[in-house]
Amino acid sequence: MMLAGAHAIVTGGGTGIGAAIARALAAEGAKVSVVGRRLGPLEEVAGEIGGTAISADLSRPEEIDRAFDEARAANGPIKILVNNAGIAPSAPFKRTDSDMWRNVMATNLDAPFHCCKAALGDLLAADAGRIVTIASVAGLEGFAYVAPYVASKHGVVGLMRALAAEYAGTRLTANAVCPGFVDTDIVANAAALIAAKSGMDEEEARAQLARQNKGGTLLSPEDVARVVVELCDPSCNTTGAAITIEDRP
Ligand code: NAP
Repeated sequence: MMLAGAHAIVTGGGTGIGAAIARALAAEGAKVSVVGRRLGPLEEVAGEIGGTAISADLSRPEEIDRAFDEARAANGPIKILVNNAGIAPSAPFKRTDSDMWRNVMATNLDAPFHCCKAALGDLLAADAGRIVTIASVAGLEGFAYVAPYVASKHGVVGLMRALAAEYAGTRLTANAVCPGFVDTDIVANAAALIAAKSGMDEEEARAQLARQNKGGTLLSPEDVARVVVELCDPSCNTTGAAITIEDRP
């Protein structure tokens, strides 16, 4: 198996895209540590794949250090870091307050920064260290009513490009993956909010979000996980990329 014995940390690995990534990496032989706040979903995924569940609020840097130490103690030095945890609250810009801004930045941008720092020594010592960050098409273009999300996702794309440039002379690669709308809780919550505000039913709200993808349908978490696994292949030389994933009609 391509990743036999490699230790992969997947943040937000208890649900949605992160859970699909954890399963896909485990299927390639990786030892996976899944990190998030709710232990229940993390333990479910870890139990399924023989991985390790670690509860931590990644918006708090000290919890990142503690979680990564626990992950190392369970599975050894880190070879793959998948920055996937994220939140996507929405509001018109004039009602976006500094608390919402800070919370989104702490989770979507500061946490990947601290996770990269916490894993860097291991990743550079590894034969082919890998950082993959789940950004979004919102990391490459603007969307209404999600200014902090758009800014944070542009930020992590920049972070991956900066790391790729700085470590270009090493075997470490750093890439961003930028999916369109994916069928997960984030989209379900957005559809519920649109339905509550507009009076349309939730199915129609979901369809409205899906129509923003080029093919008009929602992506599956597995569509994203496949690209992450390709980037984690030790023979993959791609670095500094921001790879968009669109659905196909
Ligand atoms: P999701 O199921 O809500 O996943 C988000 C994960 O992040 C959850 O497992 C959550 O676990 C974890 N998380 C959030 N805040 C955290 C914190 N402070 N500390 C630790 N873990 C935290 O939604 P998803 O769609 O799979 O999202 C995964 C990633 O994909 C996000 O970065 C999102 O921006 C990105 N993305 C999603 C879409 C989409 O349409 N769904 C499109 C493009 C990109 P806990 O709540 O238990 O902490």
